[in-house]
Amino acid sequence: MALIRDEALVIRSYKLGEADRIVLLFTKDHGKLRAVAKGSRKAKSRIGGRVEPLNYLNVQLWMGKDLHILSQAETIESNFSLRVDLESIQRAMSILEIVDKLTHDDYPDPVLFDAAIRALRSLANNRSAMYVPAFFLRAMQIEGFRPSVETCRLCGTTDDIVAFDPASAAVTCALHPIGNEISAGALKAMRLVLDGHASQAFAVTDSEDEYQMEGLVISFCEAMIERKLKTVHPLLKH
Ligand SMILES: [Zn+2]
Repeated sequence: MALIRDEALVIRSYKLGEADRIVLLFTKDHGKLRAVAKGSRKAKSRIGGRVEPLNYLNVQLWMGKDLHILSQAETIESNFSLRVDLESIQRAMSILEIVDKLTHDDYPDPVLFDAAIRALRSLANNRSAMYVPAFFLRAMQIEGFRPSVETCRLCGTTDDIVAFDPASAAVTCALHPIGNEISAGALKAMRLVLDGHASQAFAVTDSEDEYQMEGLVISFCEAMIERKLKTVHPLLKH
């Protein structure tokens, strides 16, 4: 077994036997992996309280062929402020869910890792609903699914863009409205996020734009990964 150190985001953990826990970690340099946290359910365990979902850790792991063992975990950020209200938890959990869906075991994705950490930190500090769709769009872009938001998919015009079709990941104009309605604010915000100007996107939207963008982006992600997301806001489910 080789001993490695890495940074890790805890995606989830589940019980194993009487005293142990299996932890699903998204590590920066070793990708997503499952590790046993031995004795982590015992009261005196130093690791136990740290392997909660959303925690950002420095970890030390023994890497086995089939089984990895978490031998040390130190908290970098506990994302504690995300746990104060249900809505923040739900939004944060949806970030973990999309990370889980987009990553493969043992396949490093440090760009996505850093984006996820930044998104959780921003969400904890500001609690703006925009961080979730902004992260989803960024994550999909990192994984090679960039939606086309500049010109109508059917005629190529840049004028009168009124709809976004999640299934084809493209916008359409007033003459060819396919998909869901998109406001000028939501469209502008999506363009800014995709061009790497997420912070400017927050200035051009009102809460209705944000809500609409969140719904559109979730539909887009679900269409691309061909699965429904479980943790999204109930009102955004369809
Ligand atoms: Zn058109």
